[in-house]
Amino acid sequence: EIYILRLGHRPERDKRITTHVALTARAFGAKGIFVSTKDEVLENSIRSVVDRFGGDFTIETGTKWRDFMRKFDGIKVHLTMYGTHIDDGIPKVKADVRNKMLIVVGAEKVPPEVYQWADYNIGVGNQPHSEVAALAVFLDRYQDRQALQKDFEGNTTVIPCERGKNVVIKDSE
Ligand code: SAM
Repeated sequence: EIYILRLGHRPERDKRITTHVALTARAFGAKGIFVSTKDEVLENSIRSVVDRFGGDFTIETGTKWRDFMRKFDGIKVHLTMYGTHIDDGIPKVKADVRNKMLIVVGAEKVPPEVYQWADYNIGVGNQPHSEVAALAVFLDRYQDRQALQKDFEGNTTVIPCERGKNVVIKDSE
């Protein structure tokens, strides 16, 4: 089971990007996200996607992240441009098999203890880019590029088509 810890979310500034971190986590096969700042609007918008599109993805905001990260019972991976290159890091993370994984991503500067408490600091390349991109690439590579094969079984299902939109909405009785 893979969980995300999102640090430094500022509700006014990071609304869209944290939403995208959560949706990307869900779409790429993670089980849930913990956000260090309380934000009920964010919680509701993610739950509404889960209600419609399915899956059992969970969101908690206002997580006391220091306690949470220290006590997390599993492997802790911090995504940072300063870390071990993903091509070298993924085999190490994979060799370190545990039941749960926590992937930590920041917004602005990440507190120094995160680098210490993480079992692995991994760079998705060593150039600055985005927590959304870093998370997507890490999740896909960690799952052997199968991250997008999960079946969500929601009320709303998109049928792939070459042009236009084909969406099936089931009656939820
Ligand atoms: N400048 C900040 C710092 O020094 O920590 C990072 C800002 S960056 C926009 C926000 C987050 O994106 C980072 O905390 C990290 O999780 C992720 N990120 C950005 N580039 C990355 C990379 N090349 N590899 C892994 N994660 C990256």
